[in-house]
Amino acid sequence: MAIKNEKHSDANMSLFWFRSDLRIASNEALAAAINSDKLLHLLYILDEDLGVAPGKATAWWLHHSLADLSQRIADRGGKLILRRGKTADVFADLIKDLPSFDLYYNADFAPQYREMDKAVTHALEAAGYTANRFCDRLVVPGSLKTQAGGWYKVFTPYYKALLNELQLRPQPFAPEAFELPQQELASDHLEDWGLLPTKPNWASGFGDEWTPGETGAQERLMDFVQDTIAGYKSGRDFPIKEAVSRLSPHLRFGELSLNSVWQAAEFYAEDKAAPFTRQLVWKEFSTELLYQFPKLPREAFKPEYDRMPWQKDPKGLKAWQKGMTGYPLIDAGMRELWHSGYMHNRVRMVVASFLIKDLLIDWREGLKWFDETLVDADDANNAASWQWVAGSGADAAPYFRIFNPVRQSEKFDPKGEYIRKWVPELADLTKDEIHAPWEVPEMDLRMKGVVLGDTYPKPIVDHAEARRRALKALEVTKEEA
Ligand SMILES: Cc1cc2nc3c(=O)[nH]c(=O)nc-3n(C[C@H](O)[C@H](O)[C@H](O)COP(=O)(O)OP(=O)(O)OC[C@H]3O[C@@H](n4cnc5c(N)ncnc54)[C@H](O)[C@@H]3O)c2cc1C
Repeated sequence: MAIKNEKHSDANMSLFWFRSDLRIASNEALAAAINSDKLLHLLYILDEDLGVAPGKATAWWLHHSLADLSQRIADRGGKLILRRGKTADVFADLIKDLPSFDLYYNADFAPQYREMDKAVTHALEAAGYTANRFCDRLVVPGSLKTQAGGWYKVFTPYYKALLNELQLRPQPFAPEAFELPQQELASDHLEDWGLLPTKPNWASGFGDEWTPGETGAQERLMDFVQDTIAGYKSGRDFPIKEAVSRLSPHLRFGELSLNSVWQAAEFYAEDKAAPFTRQLVWKEFSTELLYQFPKLPREAFKPEYDRMPWQKDPKGLKAWQKGMTGYPLIDAGMRELWHSGYMHNRVRMVVASFLIKDLLIDWREGLKWFDETLVDADDANNAASWQWVAGSGADAAPYFRIFNPVRQSEKFDPKGEYIRKWVPELADLTKDEIHAPWEVPEMDLRMKGVVLGDTYPKPIVDHAEARRRALKALEVTKEEA
């Protein structure tokens, strides 16, 4: 009797849908699709409603990440199908082309994905297809519950509960080969998507800093866990030190799973891994906050903060965006962001505080700018972090704790090396002068090529006055609604 090899029948196939998991190793849904022992189509859909659109720094990243993914798949005999459009429309077309398939994908918890996933699953099931959803974006799948049965709004108890539940899952290896169905599916060309900026090519500096894609992500992870992680705790607040992982864009696009990063950190650093893995839990916590409160990018979690008397200050906003505020640490951070698509965490906190409190500009303006310019721009982390600084978040820094941009600079960039790197017009100032050049006698500045208001801006606000104004503004949050 002839045994029918089911795997070689096109009537019996799986479709794997890449989303925020642009990797073939440690990918639970992909491994399940492969283990289903069916021929496999591999799909990516560019749906601009989901967040990445041409013109954003994330689009630059996505282009290169998809190029790497396509290559890794091609090296194993497979093909990545690229389609652009509304997800529902793409699936409607696929249903026409493919009489049967089982869909596999990993869940993403941002609100726009949740709505879309429901719609896609309903449409597929109504047409007789099956959809298999996996949850490998989180270290601990599913929402953690407090003893009272609610969800956690405060980080530390959430962190403890997560450690209690933690059971790192075995990570599937990258498949050695993909077996393609005979029927070919039409695919767009990545170059035609126009994800890379051209006129002007404002991302020209990004390539010196980053290697997007799973290949670069794995290298970055290995460098970090083998060479750097031991000094993470002591060095992570100093922007000039290479003490942090810079894994955020790789995690944003799922080129690495949180689970595998956690395991690598523990394997190489053992008990020294905790200060780093704790930060991974901030990512998980932010994901949970957005899941529970989908309006997080638009509305204050503590609603009284939406009564703040925000200033319309286009000039101030522009000066902040361009790194021309006259406060060297702020300007260094904002220029690092523009040139590299990244900013160190300590500096993100200080520039965010400056926008919100010194300029009294609505945090949503800052969130929007970060969303456009960060290569790691992530709905959950970005919104949770802006609300953390604004004092309006679930477990936020109190609003009245206002960062002094000069003290922060003296403390975390004591020799002014980070400032000199990104604000070269101040490079000749000494470590005592560089944090507040307006306090240096004019003649001394001139001898070092600095003329305030000409070669470098005068401070656009007086921090002490701005601080008083910010604290006064806070009073409205205490009034009866
Ligand atoms: C105003 C503001 C906006 C931010 N916007 C984003 C954003 O859009 N995307 C983003 O990934 N991070 C954001 N962050 C958090 C943090 O600054 C970055 O994750 C971190 O700087 C990335 O560098 P790293 O990978 O070297 O971090 P590491 O210190 O090496 O940490 C490892 C990983 O942990 C996670 N992580 C670290 N700190 C945080 C945090 N505070 N909240 C959530 N996750 C964290 C990140 O995934 C990071 O890659 C923001 C912070 C602030 C203050």
